Amino acid sequence: MAQFDAIVVGARCAGSPTAMLLARNGYRVLLVDRATFPSDTISTHVVQPTGVGSLRRWGLLDRLIATGCPPIHTYTFDFGPFAIAGSPGTDNTPVAYCPRRTVLDKLLVDAAAEAGADVREGFTVEGIVLDDDRVVGVRGHGKDGRSVTDHARVVVGADGLHSLVAATVEPEWYREKPPLLCGYYSYWSDLPMDGRFDTYIRPERGFAACPTHDDLTLVVVGWPYAEFAANKSDIEGNYLKTFELAPAFADRVRGATREDRFYGMAVPNYFRRPYGPGWALVGDAGYNKDFITAQGISDAFRDAELCADRLAQVFSGDRSFDEAMSDYQRLRDEHVLPIYEMTTQLATLEPPPPDMQQLLGAIHGNQAAMDGFVRANAGVSSPAEFFSDDNIAQIFASASLSSGHR
Ligand SMILES: Cc1cc2nc3c(=O)[nH]c(=O)nc-3n(C[C@H](O)[C@H](O)[C@H](O)COP(=O)(O)OP(=O)(O)OC[C@H]3O[C@@H](n4cnc5c(N)ncnc54)[C@H](O)[C@@H]3O)c2cc1C
Repeated sequence: MAQFDAIVVGARCAGSPTAMLLARNGYRVLLVDRATFPSDTISTHVVQPTGVGSLRRWGLLDRLIATGCPPIHTYTFDFGPFAIAGSPGTDNTPVAYCPRRTVLDKLLVDAAAEAGADVREGFTVEGIVLDDDRVVGVRGHGKDGRSVTDHARVVVGADGLHSLVAATVEPEWYREKPPLLCGYYSYWSDLPMDGRFDTYIRPERGFAACPTHDDLTLVVVGWPYAEFAANKSDIEGNYLKTFELAPAFADRVRGATREDRFYGMAVPNYFRRPYGPGWALVGDAGYNKDFITAQGISDAFRDAELCADRLAQVFSGDRSFDEAMSDYQRLRDEHVLPIYEMTTQLATLEPPPPDMQQLLGAIHGNQAAMDGFVRANAGVSSPAEFFSDDNIAQIFASASLSSGHR
């Protein structure tokens, strides 16, 4: 008999909650990561209200709040001539947070250990163990270099973009798109945000500022991936020059101090089939998209809930593996497809087409529509619903009514 019901490779946003939820259900779980915690990873770190909802359901939100992470109640999208500002939240989860990954990921790993998962930090998985075409375990080593093999009924790859689990099982890829933008970020003091997450949209440029731990503000700048090579020799110059497209913000940055180096990245966009004989994928290992809409952490949380729930159905004998896990894939894909399409469109940094510019003008000033726009961009509500013909017609009708009243 396998030593574990599940071995989870990768212990950040996708892996730790998957391990925690399975362990809370009484299953035997091994959670491994080559990193030790607390540690950072290259990622800005807006947790959308949907992700905050997951933390609350898991009983972890109060712990995050206790770390002093400031809540974010308003998102602003500044298009130059006007800005759309609204609330990203719902009655249940009214705010977002932008916690440092050093804080968030440590909190998640600790919660998995507390739930009873066997946690091995500083443990590198070097190979996936197969029996014919079925995954049955992992082989790896800790800091002492001694090679260890562990067996499980299922190996869950929560090992990110360059997943070894995915590379071994070679799942089907679909809806792939190449990297579209590159993003660079750093942390600033004396740049207060007062609970706002501000995004500036300019032709071929986008940038955003968001409050995080320690009274610091995360500021990220993006330009098209096509400019990666040309701009990489002067990240700081290009980063600072971008703010001049919003002079009031550039002035604020001149009065602030950069407290860290620059971090940067560009990512591909893809779906991978997230299950097969003896294996499953969660988080970036199974589905990835540009970070412009800041969905990855909340998506990883949702994957963890869906996957752990379906695996529990399999372990308890209620459903077959294929039935339960095809359900996981279907629900994941249905949920994320509209925002995947929107994200990969926004990440081109092309100016909104004329009909979208007209719509944005009609949304501006209509608070219900602005809240709806913000929630669709936050992935809190479906962009497909917000941009449906009916909703657009209503927004234009309100706009013409209010211009008639002026
Ligand atoms: C520049 C940038 C900005 C972003 N901004 C946001 C944002 O604001 N909001 C948001 O929600 N998302 C954001 N994202 C996306 C977010 O970072 C990811 O979606 C999220 O980290 C995915 O979590 P994960 O647990 O799937 O993978 P990861 O966070 O990548 O964790 C994978 C873990 O697996 C471990 N691992 C890998 N291979 C092995 C191995 N062989 N053995 C042992 N351990 C292994 C790694 O050490 C790592 O700890 C951003 C991403 C980037 C690149």
